[in-house]
Formats: sequence, structure tokens, C-alpha cells
Amino acid sequence: MNVIPRDQHCISRQNISDSALKVMSRLRKEGFQAYLVGGAVRDLLLGERPKDFDIATDATPEDVRELFRNSRIIGRRFRIVHVRFGREIIEVTTFRGHHDNDAAGASDSNGSKQSNKGLLLRDNVFGTLEEDAVRRDLTVNALYYDAGNFEVFDHVGGTRDLENRLVRIIGDPEQRYTEDPVRMLRVLRFAAKLDFSIEAETARGIGLCAHLLLEIPAARLFDEFIKLFMGGCAEATLDKLLEHDLLRYLFPETCAEMDVDELALPLIRAAMRSTDLRIGQDKPVTPAFILAALLWPVARAQADQLEERGDAPIAAMHSAAQLTISEAAQHLSIPRRFSQPMREIWEYQLRLTNRRGRKAAELVEQRRFRAAYDFLLLREEAGEYTGDLGAWWTTFQELPMEQRLKEAGGGGRSGRSKPRRRRAKPEA
Ligand code: ATP
Ligand code: MG
Repeated sequence: MNVIPRDQHCISRQNISDSALKVMSRLRKEGFQAYLVGGAVRDLLLGERPKDFDIATDATPEDVRELFRNSRIIGRRFRIVHVRFGREIIEVTTFRGHHDNDAAGASDSNGSKQSNKGLLLRDNVFGTLEEDAVRRDLTVNALYYDAGNFEVFDHVGGTRDLENRLVRIIGDPEQRYTEDPVRMLRVLRFAAKLDFSIEAETARGIGLCAHLLLEIPAARLFDEFIKLFMGGCAEATLDKLLEHDLLRYLFPETCAEMDVDELALPLIRAAMRSTDLRIGQDKPVTPAFILAALLWPVARAQADQLEERGDAPIAAMHSAAQLTISEAAQHLSIPRRFSQPMREIWEYQLRLTNRRGRKAAELVEQRRFRAAYDFLLLREEAGEYTGDLGAWWTTFQELPMEQRLKEAGGGGRSGRSKPRRRRAKPEA
């Protein structure tokens, strides 16, 4: 174990949340070990401000629960304790240990369980700091900071990889991805977020194990989807997912559509860029918007098909939205609070083609107008031809209601225009 003394690293207690310091000092006072671990140590060593503060300890979840009134045990697959201080939550995790029985299909009395494909279904076997370190995902995420004597503990070469800006999975990549395929997504997420390279074996394993992502429940994939795209580095993450061909485990229909619709990727990219920008400016963002972009090419293609079969445009889009959402839900369980606004953004794309009458004048006042209008601009930015619709709404929405009514009410305008939407990919 490599111990880095206080004068050889840049972590200062000043940059650690008071609540985290409190939790650690309380645990130490009770005779337990307690370390800051994971993303917080990594980000502090990189000179950045951590998003949250995770703590690792040899106290069991029950021990921790008893020490802090403001705490509760959560999780089943992986039991941890949340200690709450106002809006801040400090996550306290008991050191994980080795499993007695590593055979596939095994379930030992100690609290670990594996599926017959080797997937770790439960990991509640407790152990030492050294054992805990090797069970973490990446070397740069397995550094421990002791706020009592200011030392950093490195058991897996994490500090060296930090210096070399390398994302490296701990242990044998294939085995670690088999235990938990989500680690592949985490590798890409951190490579994008930190702008690190991916170590060769770590990357090679992804190619070999990617299919295991099919085993991951749709609810967990949705949680991971949020972390991938709502962390401020969506565009860089998208590139990594495409480069390592993992996007298709999250959005298979979208990936198929990308092969035939040349506007699909530019639209998705534009949505990611705009989300990243907004997060950077501390503006509110919603997964509904990114989802709308990711699934629009699929919904649009389906609506086109239905229209060709004779459905009216609004009805076609309505059915297409339903179909697209239920197909996507096979892989990613999108909560209704996101799928509903996403659907509305799509359906508004049709309403926005109508520049005439009271309806157009009133549309501007609707709750979903802003998101739908932003989405229209993204489609144009991505190269879709809409007949200057975006510019028209930009001016129109600024007018007072009375003038909007006058403007939209009279004839002369082109009314609903059916824009030329899709261009086939040029022959190679
Ligand atoms: P972030 O900045 O996104 O919070 P983080 O590194 O803290 O990054 P978390 O998802 O909060 O990431 O996880 C905390 C720590 O738990 C990680 O640093 C890692 O050590 C460990 N960990 C999380 N998920 C896994 C996993 N699937 N397999 C192994 N270890 C994991
Ligand atoms: Mg964290």
C-alpha cells in the first residue's frame, strides 16, 4: 500500500464539506476507520471541486445507522447508509471484502450473490481497506483520504494513473465487466468527464463484454443514462459511447436510425451541446429534452411510415410517439414525468408548422412552447430544412398578443407547411 503523506499531495480539509468531516471524525472517535473515498478524493487531487463526498469505513451499516440519528440504510444489492445534513447527503459505505464463493450461480450466506452469468447481484460481504480498494471500479476512484492524519492511501496505483491521466479498471477487465457490466459505461463516463485516455486493456475489454449490458435491468440503465448525459459532459460522453459502440445498448432504435438518417446524429449532438452549455451556466435542464432529441429520429421515421399509410400527420405523430416510447422502454425505463414532456415536445413540432390563426397566436402562451421552440431551433441547427420556421417564431413570440392575432389571423401567410425533412445518405 502506497501512503502519501500530507506534504506530498494537494488535498486540504478546507475543500472538504463540513458534514463529511463531521461524519468521519465521529466514526474515528468511536474507534472505527473512516476515509474520504471515490470521486471526492480524485477530484480534490485534480484541483477540482467534488460533486459529493463519499466515505468508506469498517463500521457496518447498522453501526453507522446507530451513530447518526439523521441516517438511513438504503440499497439491497449494495447496502449503504445515507447521512443527511439539510440538503446534503453523505454516503457512507462499509469496506467490501472478498467473496467466499466466486462460482457463478452462487449465493453465500455472507451476503453476496451472483447470477449464473457471473453478474454480481448482491455485494454485502464486508472486509478491509485493501480488499475494498480492489473491489472498486477504477484506479483513480480507489484513493482514500484520512482526514485525521491527512494521508492518502493508494493500493491500486491510482495516483500514478491520475498523473498520467488514464482511466484504468482495477483487476482483470473481463472479469470486472462480467461482475458488473455498468462499469463499462462508467469507464466511458469518467474518460469523457475527466478528459482522460482509456488504458488499452480497459478499452479492449469493453469490445469483448459490451453484450453483457443486455443483462442490466432497464431501471438501472436509466439511472446510468442520467449520470452519462446530465453531468455537464454529454457531448464528450456521446462521442465515447459511439467510439466504443455502447450507445446501441441504451438506444438501439436510434442507432439503427442513425445509419439511414443523416440528420439524426447532428440533432442529438446539438441537444447534448446545448444541455452541457446550460449546465455550465447553472441553468435548469431536463432529461426530457435530451431524450426528445435521442428518440426524435425514431419517432419521426415511424410517423412518416404511418403517414404514408394514410394517417393524418397529428394522429401519425401521436401513435409514433407511443410506439417509440414503448420500444425504448424495453431497454431504458423512462419515467412518465420525462416521457410525457418529451412527447409533448414532439407533438408541438407539428403545431409549430401552423403559422396561422388564433391557435398559432395562443401557442406562444402554452407551457411547453419554450422547450418545443428550442427543439425546433436544434433541428434547424442540425441541418433540417423547415422553411425558416424558427426565425418566424423567434420574431412572432416577441409580439404582444393583439399583434400576434393580427399577424396570424390574416391570410397571405403560407399556413401549415410540410417541410422537407429527411434526406437519404449520399451513395458511398
Ligand atoms: P461522481 O463524481 O460521478 O460522483 P464517483 O467516483 O464518486 O463520481 P459514484 O457513482 O458516486 O462515483 O461512486 C462512488 C464510488 O463507488 C466510486 O468512486 C467507485 O469507487 C465506487 N463504485 C461506484 N460504482 C461502482 C461499480 N459499479 N463497481 C465498482 N465500484 C463502484
Ligand atoms: Mg460520488
